[in-house]
Amino acid sequence: GKVVSTVIFVDGEFKSREEAVVNVYDHGLLYGDGIYEGLRCYSGYVFQLEEHLDRLLRSAKSLRIELPYTKEQIGGFVTETLARNELMDAYIRLIVTRGVGPIGPDPRGCKKPGLIIIVENLPNVHGSGRKEGGISAAIVPTRRDPVDATTHEIKSLNYMNSIMAKIEAADYQADDAIMLDARGFISESTICNVFIWTRGKLLTPGASNAILSGITRQNVLEIAREMNVEVEERDITPYELIHADEVFLTGTHAEIVGVVRINNMPVSNGKVGDFTRAVMEAFSKRTGCPEYGTAVYGHSKQGE
Ligand code: PMP
Repeated sequence: GKVVSTVIFVDGEFKSREEAVVNVYDHGLLYGDGIYEGLRCYSGYVFQLEEHLDRLLRSAKSLRIELPYTKEQIGGFVTETLARNELMDAYIRLIVTRGVGPIGPDPRGCKKPGLIIIVENLPNVHGSGRKEGGISAAIVPTRRDPVDATTHEIKSLNYMNSIMAKIEAADYQADDAIMLDARGFISESTICNVFIWTRGKLLTPGASNAILSGITRQNVLEIAREMNVEVEERDITPYELIHADEVFLTGTHAEIVGVVRINNMPVSNGKVGDFTRAVMEAFSKRTGCPEYGTAVYGHSKQGE
């Protein structure tokens, strides 16, 4: 369907798409100095708003960005932006920039962080047909930054690895990329975490594999525990990935998607597997459940 975004929150004001612009001296633009969150709203409930705001605050603290609003205020801006756009189901992009300052990189010259909220009725990043058929992936040359170098755990505005990896995936005619960490173990995809189902066990890279700690990933780990499945967060080799029974990716934008080809070879039988389907099903129960969400509209409005 058509992507709708009529009203955008910019620094406390609601603006039209045309009016929603940033200053060219904003360090978010000049240096990628900023952070963000991607969330989804399902049937009028923002899924795990609390968890996303907590991660945003952790990202802000890591970069010493002092938010000019409280967590509750930001949550309120998110629900208000959804309400003003009259959306029940949406992707939400919350962006905090360092703000406007001198041309040099010193953040101390920036007096007030910028806050932007964009909401769109955006479908799954890999397209709707991918739920059934799955996607292809390529292990690409670009690595995730090493754990001892920059800041892979901060959800910052620096996505160069992911962008390089996406370009390389296209070079290999693959839908998406899988990046390795600096030591050569599986890390993650461009905007998703990676899971492997193999011999009745669920494997996923851990914090020492330079991943972003995904909220969808956390949900899948909880779902696996509910299913009494054995889970290992550990180093995974490209060999293990290629010979897995099932592979899937998780992320807010992509939700859960099966990977059925890697490096031009089928994963197992080349179809989205039963375990992946079971996890998709369990995850969609969670996203559809008000218990996991924050209501955008008053309860009386539900179902009207
Ligand atoms: N890894 C990266 C690099 C990402 O950008 C994202 C998307 N936020 C994820 C993983 C998945 O995280 P989440 O499930 O919280 O969306």
